[in-house]
Amino acid sequence: MCRHLAHVGPRPVTLASRVTEPPHSLLVQAYAPADMRGGGTVNADGFGVGWYAADGSPHSYRAPVPMWTDASFLDLATTVQSAAFVAAVRSATVGMPVSVGACAPFRDRDRVFSHNGVVRGWPGSLADLAGELDTETLMTLEAPTDSAVLWALVRRHLDAGKDPVDAVLDVVTRALAAAPGSRLNLLLLTADAAGEPTLVATAVDHALSYRSGPDGTTIASEPLDADPDWTAVPDLSAVVVRGVTATPEVLPLT
Ligand code: GLN
Repeated sequence: MCRHLAHVGPRPVTLASRVTEPPHSLLVQAYAPADMRGGGTVNADGFGVGWYAADGSPHSYRAPVPMWTDASFLDLATTVQSAAFVAAVRSATVGMPVSVGACAPFRDRDRVFSHNGVVRGWPGSLADLAGELDTETLMTLEAPTDSAVLWALVRRHLDAGKDPVDAVLDVVTRALAAAPGSRLNLLLLTADAAGEPTLVATAVDHALSYRSGPDGTTIASEPLDADPDWTAVPDLSAVVVRGVTATPEVLPLT
């Protein structure tokens, strides 16, 4: 299963400070993950990053190649700075395509989304939920994958004005009811009208940890280093960070 991370903090940091430099960075988790729980061995089917620049403008970079082969990205990551970003490395679920459109994070304006896991019984198990999407959305999904449908369902809630945390929790609980046994680690970064970010990350049958301090909060599939301050997120719960200096809240999924 893929690996992902997100960071929000009071000051911009380089993407590299979380994505490529730590001893167990996302780059290392791409080729030597430690806690895949039987879902694949390496995360070599693509990667991506979505971030807010200093002026708040959203950007992203994705490529359907192993992160370690993209020397240009490894260089850019040392100089691009952001106070709010999401990054992911992908291990394609069997039967799903390897393409740039299937790589997380997915982005729509300043909404950045990643899914780490699998919807069991795809595609049939998700057909009823996908039926809530309008035809045009279904015709323009970025990829025929479980993650792209989950993203479209979250986006639909956001477009209707739903709170980002409620949007993610609703999609996770209904997808789990429709497809029991699914692995649904979702991650969403959004910004309010004042540019203040909200991060929400769920743990459903997959690894997730977070660390919070004066430099902000980092949430990651696997701790980026051996710091004892990393806290494992209990299964069937969500971590929510509202604002760059907020303390993370852990909520049970009901
Ligand atoms: N099922 C998703 C995909 O194929 C996510 C993969 C994963 O988490 N390994 O893109």
